[in-house]
Amino acid sequence: MNTLTPIQQGVTDRFFRYVRTESQSDARATTVPSTESQWTFARLLVDELTTAGATDVHLSDTCVVTAKIPGTGEGPAIGFCSHLDTVDVNLSPTVNPQLTHYEGGDICLNAERDLWLRAADHPELAAYEGQPIVHTDGTSVLGADDKAGVTAIMEAVTELGGQTPHGDIYIAFVPDEEIGLRGVRTIDFDRFPVDYAYTVDGGELGEVVETTFNAATATITIAGVSAHPMNAKGNLVNPITLAMEFANQLDAQETPEHTEGREGFIWLNGIDGNQSTCTMQLSIRDHDREGYEEKKQRLRTLADDLAAANPRATITCDIVDVYANISDAKTPENSVGSERLHATMRRLGIEIKEIDMRGGTDGSWLSNQGVYTPNYFTGAHNFHSIYEFLPVPSLERCYELTLALMRGE
Ligand SMILES: [Zn+2]
Repeated sequence: MNTLTPIQQGVTDRFFRYVRTESQSDARATTVPSTESQWTFARLLVDELTTAGATDVHLSDTCVVTAKIPGTGEGPAIGFCSHLDTVDVNLSPTVNPQLTHYEGGDICLNAERDLWLRAADHPELAAYEGQPIVHTDGTSVLGADDKAGVTAIMEAVTELGGQTPHGDIYIAFVPDEEIGLRGVRTIDFDRFPVDYAYTVDGGELGEVVETTFNAATATITIAGVSAHPMNAKGNLVNPITLAMEFANQLDAQETPEHTEGREGFIWLNGIDGNQSTCTMQLSIRDHDREGYEEKKQRLRTLADDLAAANPRATITCDIVDVYANISDAKTPENSVGSERLHATMRRLGIEIKEIDMRGGTDGSWLSNQGVYTPNYFTGAHNFHSIYEFLPVPSLERCYELTLALMRGE
């Protein structure tokens, strides 16, 4: 049974074409892009942007696709950004999307492997009864994160046409978002000279993110003194013992598993030691700038105190800022990007669900560079999982919103 409207058929066909083009990123790589496959997807988009009549279509040596849709009238220069990569969570890089007209109950993802999207485990499904839903075959993520975003932008670019005057529109598709926003950092702002931008990389219908974490990575390195047990007394300085002492002074309640909402945390998520050295990796996250700076300072003080108490050990604490809260970049001049998003959603009858995101987006980095960049929904659920699914009408709304924002409506 095919009950898709022509617009739904259009976005679905495009989405299928994109998710079938593999583009996982690889956190272990040291290059940008991290994988060859992202080049393939990028080149596909370069061709399609060119065919759609975009100008200044460019593929950078770090696989960032940029393009311009020249303005046909007055209006601000608006940017639209999505990421090329899909996440690698040890599932198949190949995506075989399935379309189901959902009539309630459980969805069989893969009969052979007996994999199901259960209504009992996923109460969010209930809202989509009677709708066409795209889901996985149980062997991979769907990759709606973020190919649903790419789909909405590309479909809107294709549909833009000349009748409604609009300002300059800039497109950026960036690699390696899933492995620490690596791709967006290489963007050339001369090719993305916008007044404000949007990332199309959000979740369910209506979701808007204008608040993200401030994020840093801390590396504590402890060099001890090794010795044979026969003369260890008074000589040996065990770096692993010192690392445990450090870890024990962290607040046991201030961790990801004990916090929610706007509560920040320090997450000890890597430790690697031997008789000579021990290295600890920590993630620092807080929506609130002051709380964030306080957490960073607290780690430095802990490291200094440990070093002072153990003069024969060498202890260093390196903290690197990774991204910043979007909302801190909001100014009276650029807040028009937020106002237009809200106004356009209201006009389209899309209920706004504002999220204080416990994570970051490419916009967290762009905003920190002075380009205010809220994030809005693609319509998808259950990112980074075989249960990822995308209701087609939600994607359709994402496309309508993107087109309306481009037209400045
Ligand atoms: Zn994403």
